[in-house]
Amino acid sequence: MNWISDYVPPKIKSFFQRRDTPENLWTKCDSCGQMIFHRELAENQNVCPGCNFHMPITPRARFKTLFDGGIFTEIEVPEAKADPLSFRDEKRYSDRMKDARRKTGEPEAMLVVRGDIFGLDTICAGQDFSFMAGSMGIAVGNAMLAAAEAAVKQKAPLVVFTAAGGARMQEGILSLMQMPRTTIAVEMVREARLPFVVVLTHPTTGGVTASYAMLGDVHLAEPDALICFAGPRVIEQTIRETLPDGFQRSEYLLDHGMIDRVVERGQIREELGRILRLLTGKPPMVIGDLPAPAAAPAETDKPAAGELASDELALNEPTPNEPTPEKSAAKKKTDGAV
Ligand SMILES: [Zn+2]
Repeated sequence: MNWISDYVPPKIKSFFQRRDTPENLWTKCDSCGQMIFHRELAENQNVCPGCNFHMPITPRARFKTLFDGGIFTEIEVPEAKADPLSFRDEKRYSDRMKDARRKTGEPEAMLVVRGDIFGLDTICAGQDFSFMAGSMGIAVGNAMLAAAEAAVKQKAPLVVFTAAGGARMQEGILSLMQMPRTTIAVEMVREARLPFVVVLTHPTTGGVTASYAMLGDVHLAEPDALICFAGPRVIEQTIRETLPDGFQRSEYLLDHGMIDRVVERGQIREELGRILRLLTGKPPMVIGDLPAPAAAPAETDKPAAGELASDELALNEPTPNEPTPEKSAAKKKTDGAV
């Protein structure tokens, strides 16, 4: 009867394995339950077309739709000391890091890039919630400092997209020390009289909210994002009161004067374009005279220009688009004004 175990189980396994692939092409919306095809979801920047629910998005995918032509160059972040406390809970911290790197393909939880938003040279940092809950360790502190230094050096505005569960517990007090450190980074940008805009995304909590996420000149937030220091559950247990509906969500914070505007993901590029031009004293942009961002490519597509450029270009080198004479003239004029 050996032929049964040798022949039948492998056949059954391969049958089920083949069924795995098509299932991965569909994502179920956590809010309305609609099944969305992966390509449609990517084109819509991970926003449900049925109910407008904003699903998580990686910084890399976000930047591809944020910058002109989808082009950006990565800014190098100094490497942080790995596992400084040799920390272990249920798992070794070093193993958690390995898993996170394998899962996301990124070295750490914050990506720092430079690119043009409606022709305006901008430094952007994006936090990746899928990398250990976007938690702020030494590496995220390094990334914020690198972003601030690049902004000061290039005389460019700084935009940060936050998403974090807070400080990285596995780095103990070293992670808490990133709160003053990132605050100093923000101060550097402020002293250079450059705009610092924060875009709060779901969820932004703990030590990140208590430092750079609340220090922007302008605070935008994506719809229905949880933005808090201690979460609603903790507060409810402490004060033994039922909290109002929508407590600590973007719209609630807007009503209570904590943030400036709630902006849907698809509108953020234009909103940032307007705000940054206003704050840097540039003339208002003309929508339509600049290349639209590349549509978010599906996983199977060729890498976008941003990815290729990021390997080739270092911080000090010129951007891939040679500035037109008109653009550099405008730049010179504003540099004087700022
Ligand atoms: Zn939905």
